[in-house]
Order: sequence, then structure tokens, then C-alpha cells
Amino acid sequence: MDQPQPRKADLFSPFSYRIEWKDGVVHEYAARDLRLACPCASCIEEGTGRAILDPSTVPQNVLLLGSELVGRYGLSFMWSDGHKTGIFTWPTLYELGKLVP
Ligand SMILES: [Zn+2]
Repeated sequence: MDQPQPRKADLFSPFSYRIEWKDGVVHEYAARDLRLACPCASCIEEGTGRAILDPSTVPQNVLLLGSELVGRYGLSFMWSDGHKTGIFTWPTLYELGKLVP
């Protein structure tokens, strides 16, 4: 099967991000859930995939300030805690969306 591709990806509000996929599925992501799932090297240990990020250090009211397309590859987000290094690939976001009802 082809990799999931977005039809539309929008910052819905500072609290949530919304992606409409080409297969018609729509996923909404809470700002903090995305922050906790950040796949960058300072949040997830490379190689082992072990979580380094301590969720208690992420404010409950962390906001999404913006997002940027990373080529055709995925998205990076900027959060109000200053974090912005994570690149979420489309397949990662699709899988993540299935976990967040
Ligand atoms: Zn990170």
C-alpha cells in the first residue's frame, strides 16, 4: 500500500492540529499529545527508540504555535515550550492519529 498522504493539514487551533488524509480519514491531535510523541533525538533515544522526554516536564497547557512542511516527507511543529526539532513523517502521524480517538 502507498504511504499515507495528507489532503489537508491545518493548525486547527493552538490546542489541536487536524489532518485530513487522502483516504478520507480525519485525525485530530491535541497539542500536548503531539509534543509527547515528538520523535526527535532529544525526546527519543536513537537506535533503541527509548523515550528520553519526561512527560512531567511538558506543561499541561502547552500550545501549538505553528507547523512547517518538511518537503513531501512530513511536518515539524513549534510548541510554546520552545521545542521545534522533531520531524513527524506522514506515516508516523497517521499511526499516531489511530491511537488518539
Ligand atoms: Zn523532541
